[in-house]
Amino acid sequence: MTCCVKCPNNQSGSTQLRFSIVFTMIAMTTMVFCLFVIFPKESASVFVRSFSLFKIRPAVKPASNMPLLDPLVLDGKRALEETSKFLAVGPRCSGTDGAERAANYLANRLKEIGIDPIIDEFKDITPEGEKTFRNVMGELQGSKEAIIILVSHYDTKSGISPEFAGANDSGSSTGLLLELARVMKNSKPGGSTILFAFLDGEECIKEYGSHDGLHGSKHLVKTLVRNMRVHKIIAVFVIDMVGDKNLNIGIPRNSSPPLTSIVFNSATEENVRLNFSLADGNILDDHVPFLQAGMRAIDIIDFDYGSEPGKNDYWHTAQDTFDKLSAESLQIVGRVVLRALNTLRDIDPTTEFKTP
Ligand SMILES: [Zn+2]
Repeated sequence: MTCCVKCPNNQSGSTQLRFSIVFTMIAMTTMVFCLFVIFPKESASVFVRSFSLFKIRPAVKPASNMPLLDPLVLDGKRALEETSKFLAVGPRCSGTDGAERAANYLANRLKEIGIDPIIDEFKDITPEGEKTFRNVMGELQGSKEAIIILVSHYDTKSGISPEFAGANDSGSSTGLLLELARVMKNSKPGGSTILFAFLDGEECIKEYGSHDGLHGSKHLVKTLVRNMRVHKIIAVFVIDMVGDKNLNIGIPRNSSPPLTSIVFNSATEENVRLNFSLADGNILDDHVPFLQAGMRAIDIIDFDYGSEPGKNDYWHTAQDTFDKLSAESLQIVGRVVLRALNTLRDIDPTTEFKTP
């Protein structure tokens, strides 16, 4: 067995150590005293400067007039009801009348909540030719320059069945984002501006590539770059497939580590840490275009949606139906997101938290 300096039975080592510490302190005090006697002015200024180096930087303090978002006001049952009503709009494959109906529904719902909606319509090339896409956006103005983006895609995967409505993918996150919008509008939180982004065209038609999939997120990123808003964005939270009764959020490795830490800490505070883990690998989802443009982004996704753990056999099949969802899962994710927002709301993007 090897023994270290801190080991209690190493008496002689410990006595020697104590003696050398006392000796060093006496020597240093004597040196400083002599310097003050010989060079009084210079020593005083060096002393002041050295001391200021050791000043502890104050922690980011929440301004008193900014109420915290209370996670308890987020209601899982309401989020599930939002999901159910949204699913009743029907299938919403990008470029179809169903997708247009869904976009109008979301815009109306934001209006009812009290947030002015914008439908950002654009055209993009796909493997099936040019299609029309619509991002539905709403902004909750904060007291600071910083912006936090909350994202859910709302389109459904094509080619599954004519009536496929994607309960978990993407009904669950869309319903939860509406509930988050309602809660945040009512709470009137200070701090960063919150941009709610219901994105179209996440799903690819054949295979993800430059003209297939992630159309809405790529378009939003381009708009942010054009409007010179990228530097103001402190975080992008993508939520996707968050309603599974058996909730198992696996944060993909290609999420920004500071955001992953914040989400894990928030899950601990909410006492739901067991529902959250770090996934084994990366996932290509709407967070990727934001990361590629230098923004900090995280994908809060449960990519373990199936008849058995690890099977994921409900995903992109006719099995993705409303009966697989639960209010509790939506509530867990929603409350964790609110706690994470509380951590971030006072951060100044120009000075703090700079590294993605
Ligand atoms: Zn999907």
